[in-house]
Amino acid sequence: MDRAPHTQEKTVTIVGAGVAGMSAACALAEAGFRVQLVERRGYRGGRASSYLHPGVNEVIDNCQHVLFGCCTNLIGFYRRIGVAGQIHWTSDMTMIEPGGRQSRLGPFRLGPLRLPAPLHSAPSFLAASAFSFQDKFALGRALQAMMRPGAIDHSAESLGAWLRRHHQTEGTLNRFWRLVIASALNAEIDSIAVPYAAKVIRELFLNSAQAGSMGMSRIPLSDLYATVPHFLAERGGAVLLNTHVEGAAWDPAASQWTVYTRTGELLSDFVILALPFEATQKLLPHLPAEEGRERLARQIERHQHWPICSVHLWFDREITSLDHAVLLDREIHWMYNQSRLQTGRGGHYIELVVSATRAFAALPRDKAICQALSELAEFFPRVKEAKLLKVALIKEVRATFGVPPGIDEARPTAVSPWPNLFLAGDWVQTGWPSTMESAARSGHLAAEQLGLTAQDPLQCLEPDLEPQGLMRWIDR
Ligand SMILES: Cc1cc2nc3c(=O)[nH]c(=O)nc-3n(C[C@H](O)[C@H](O)[C@H](O)COP(=O)(O)OP(=O)(O)OC[C@H]3O[C@@H](n4cnc5c(N)ncnc54)[C@H](O)[C@@H]3O)c2cc1C
Repeated sequence: MDRAPHTQEKTVTIVGAGVAGMSAACALAEAGFRVQLVERRGYRGGRASSYLHPGVNEVIDNCQHVLFGCCTNLIGFYRRIGVAGQIHWTSDMTMIEPGGRQSRLGPFRLGPLRLPAPLHSAPSFLAASAFSFQDKFALGRALQAMMRPGAIDHSAESLGAWLRRHHQTEGTLNRFWRLVIASALNAEIDSIAVPYAAKVIRELFLNSAQAGSMGMSRIPLSDLYATVPHFLAERGGAVLLNTHVEGAAWDPAASQWTVYTRTGELLSDFVILALPFEATQKLLPHLPAEEGRERLARQIERHQHWPICSVHLWFDREITSLDHAVLLDREIHWMYNQSRLQTGRGGHYIELVVSATRAFAALPRDKAICQALSELAEFFPRVKEAKLLKVALIKEVRATFGVPPGIDEARPTAVSPWPNLFLAGDWVQTGWPSTMESAARSGHLAAEQLGLTAQDPLQCLEPDLEPQGLMRWIDR
């Protein structure tokens, strides 16, 4: 509920209208701050956005974005701007082997009967033909070892080293760890810190069926944020698109920031930089030479990008009646049947996603599309008879930041070296990997820090979902 506008005289400039910036902006506007949200591009959403692709003349997402029930801050942001109902939720995941054999993973249901977490999906794992008996045994033991946060959350090991130590089979490495977990974290297993993998395992597979349920927007991503300008305007704020920020100066006498953009200057009491790490790095030389700036620069230098590619295909007929699937043993990892998932999409639009694969990202366009199509036909033979009407390939080479061992030391908190200036963005210290949830969380954390400095404490961070069933009794 909105608070009385007693802080209305306090102004905030938020740089970057990605999920982090929009979450901070809406939380602060609701709390009575006057917010201007500044974005260099002509649309909102940053790395989670949609646009009219000129090659195919369709509005498409830069890539399918999925969320999970455990993404409480992202869901809180969607609720705040009134779009939570646009998320389509599902609990089932279909794994397909080349040749077409399917395994369904998901919570056990028999009439009203459910199994308590962490056993809720155990029957489907045990029945999955994608895994041999040895795979299931090895996987069961690894999941058990990751169950207790206390046992693993301070490990400095890589996921790869941990999996080798826990005798994982080739089957589990290729069909579970590399595919499901490494692609959720968008990196290779040797470049992932084991506590991040354990967090994903607990949230997606162990804590509760609700935490692991998967959500996808029914509408293009940027349309999801269409209410943000109105939300801010109703509370005295504004979104300024096509406004590239180039630097900022602090006036200690007036306790005020001047933010320099390519089109003019903006004055405010507070600033939040809600940018990816490389854009924050670019701005650093154009911020006051405060003690701590060098340390922040050194932290940023430790971050690395990982790519994600998506292939968008329009066929003349339906190639599958599945909504989405995990594709095993090939370069393409995920299939999303956008004509079924998105409201009002006509035609037969399939999106394929390839995560964490630098080799695929380096392929020339024609080769990448050719490979994707021939692999798709191995899972869905109807591809061979279907006519491809149009195709778009999107390579996001700076999709996410990696979470190798030691990365937490390079993730700053929302508090910056400068007075009244706060940091947000998926890469800051949130405990989450590079995701929309991390971005939303960072926005809420920055808003809370700003509230403390403004002597107006706010409660923006959404509580985590409590583990259910037997997971409640696991020693944390
Ligand atoms: C291909 C792809 C697939 C992904 N899949 C998923 C997924 O399935 N699930 C998931 O949870 N996450 C996924 N992610 C990650 C997710 O998109 C990001 O973690 C999240 O969107 C980051 O939000 P952010 O606000 O921190 O940063 P950004 O989205 O990068 O927002 C920063 C904004 O700042 C703007 N900006 C930069 N410099 C300036 C400047 N100087 N002045 C003004 N504005 C500026 C940018 O234009 C941008 O709009 C994916 C990302 C990509 C690219």
